[in-house]
Amino acid sequence: MTKIPGFVYFILGIIISAYSKYIEEKTKADFLTIFFYIGIFFIFIGIVKMIFAPSKTKKNFKHKKNYGHIMLCPRCKTKNYNYSRFCHICSYRLK
Ligand SMILES: [Zn+2]
Repeated sequence: MTKIPGFVYFILGIIISAYSKYIEEKTKADFLTIFFYIGIFFIFIGIVKMIFAPSKTKKNFKHKKNYGHIMLCPRCKTKNYNYSRFCHICSYRLK
């Protein structure tokens, strides 16, 4: 997948469709209708990308959460930060 954000597609779509419509009005050229639909298509892609973007950031957040240096005490199974030398509940030596 490309890394172009959704709003770029969205804006590009508006520009393409609006500009083709504008040229069509000026020149009365029917073939520009296809560009108008291409623009609509781009807007659609942009909306889809913007809808699916938050799930991606959620995934990153989850990954960050897992990165939070937690280890379980072998004796009492309490969660400890893995930089701590002793368990904060039972004082079991972790390192
Ligand atoms: Zn413990």
